[in-house]
Amino acid sequence: MRGFADRLNGIGISASAAMTDKASVLRAEGLKIISLSSGEPDFPTPSHAVEAAVEAARSGDTKYPPQAGKPALKKAIQAKFLRDNNLDYALDEILVANGAKQIIYNAMMATCNPGDEVVLPTPYWISYADIARLGGADIVQVPCPAENNFRLSAAALDAAITPKTKWLVLNFPNNPTGACCPRKDMEAIAEVLLKHEHVWIMTDDIYEHLVYDDFQFCTLAEVEPRLKDRVLTVNGVSKAYAMTGWRVGFCGGPRDLIAVMNNMQGQSTSGINTIAQAAAVAALEGPQDFLRERATEYQGRRDLVVSLLNAIPGVECHTPQGAFYVYPEISDCIGKTTPEGRHIQSDADFVMALLEEKQVATVQGAAYGMSPFFRISYATSIETLREGCRRIEEFVLSLK
Ligand code: PLP
Repeated sequence: MRGFADRLNGIGISASAAMTDKASVLRAEGLKIISLSSGEPDFPTPSHAVEAAVEAARSGDTKYPPQAGKPALKKAIQAKFLRDNNLDYALDEILVANGAKQIIYNAMMATCNPGDEVVLPTPYWISYADIARLGGADIVQVPCPAENNFRLSAAALDAAITPKTKWLVLNFPNNPTGACCPRKDMEAIAEVLLKHEHVWIMTDDIYEHLVYDDFQFCTLAEVEPRLKDRVLTVNGVSKAYAMTGWRVGFCGGPRDLIAVMNNMQGQSTSGINTIAQAAAVAALEGPQDFLRERATEYQGRRDLVVSLLNAIPGVECHTPQGAFYVYPEISDCIGKTTPEGRHIQSDADFVMALLEEKQVATVQGAAYGMSPFFRISYATSIETLREGCRRIEEFVLSLK
């Protein structure tokens, strides 16, 4: 026994990171891998954000920052919440961290005790579950079935809440399904939450700007202001501004919660790197028009992928209205065998065989709590998507 902490039992590398790593190994062996596994925009960081970072480094903006975020960034975030979400947060109701992921980590670690429950509309982004478990909490899944466009029903939510519920995590547009939450559904969810006064709600709005077909994004604290003192509104620059590597996430929430989250952060990373903060200020305060242009580009890719996948017998793909993922169902493929003799007994078997036999990297639905599905990220070029879907079709048709 090497004495590792019990809290790490069952916590491993995420399935999408594992798939990306495996694809890199195969690529290094000389195979031409089509990567549809990574949740990362293929667009560049806006040049004005890069320039602001260079300027910050050159001008000596290189000292320890305030732990909760530099005032200039907190003001830019405050203005962003007002502009995009009609939410008015005071500066001490805002926290900046190393990505939305650290915000979520700070929140769960600062609030969860053993025995607490975290309610996750399912499928869900895997990190919510692992972070909640690290905090000692138990996960309660609320299925959001494909027949309901992977949306959360208010009745199902109501049934999942118990006296032990600490958090509900909402993530629309959703990773991995791309599902969005229309305002009328959000109002019904809010009605349920008004009844359960002990529940905190985390709304992860990281895909806010990636919505299609004129879908109107809304967020809980704005839809129901009476919930605002129990809502943590989480966001960041990673997805919309193609700034995944800069590691800037932020949130708005009740002052006492922000204070304890800041205490958590103080004993891990302290304030985040100053140069990335300068870049984030430029991204949030600079031109926003390109967000719509990029969303239009993503929408075209979505349409292509959905039509190519639905043309494959045995694959059923819904049309999501947000994020850059599709989550096709593959029930008809389960129980079959590949030309190389692999038995497909689960969606994990399906994605592994697809990678090994056709060199296409995707992620199994089991990683997100709902099977048999697999996740495809379409944050990549049209050519890659065409070739990836062609190989998936060949693979599915070859199953016996
Ligand atoms: N939330 C969701 C739903 C995500 O899909 C991701 C990244 O994949 C994150 C948060 C992490 O964002 P960040 O890069 O800001 O840590």
